[in-house]
Amino acid sequence: MVLIHGAYHFWPKRVAFRNDYCLTCRAASRSIAIRTFDVGHIFWIPILPVGFWKHWRCVRCGAEPHTAPGTRRSFKWIGLAILIMVSGVSWVEPAEAPDEWVSWLFRIGGPVASLLLLRHLLRAPKELSLRQGIKSVLPADDTMCPFCKTPLLAGPRWSCPGCGVHRY
Ligand SMILES: [Zn+2]
Ligand SMILES: [Zn+2]
Repeated sequence: MVLIHGAYHFWPKRVAFRNDYCLTCRAASRSIAIRTFDVGHIFWIPILPVGFWKHWRCVRCGAEPHTAPGTRRSFKWIGLAILIMVSGVSWVEPAEAPDEWVSWLFRIGGPVASLLLLRHLLRAPKELSLRQGIKSVLPADDTMCPFCKTPLLAGPRWSCPGCGVHRY
């Protein structure tokens, strides 16, 4: 799974919209869900069809509204695990001349960097800002489809008879 570098998104179809809070815009925003047929690829060779998936996108910036900008947090946690591993190995391996300074760099620098990264990861909980932001967002109350201007059909989830989008 580690080798899967991403996914192709085939046959995009707009299926839903909602009022939202975008972590990239840091503001209330509207997002649109695009449903695509996703195929995972390894080095751009499509090999793993994973089916239809819905992807929410902020209409203002185009980013996934609930993903904080910058390095993805999961990558930082992987970085932390690698740092801890490198620090551990550098203490197990004997520091040998003439490059013993390199070992000591890892022995001291590794744990220090790990601690700093851990503090950063614990201090900035992304979920908090999202929860706070989303509190200020009122649910969408459109009665007209924003895409094709067809009056929406009322229901547990309002939908457009014209283009098939759902109001979330
Ligand atoms: Zn945005
Ligand atoms: Zn419509």
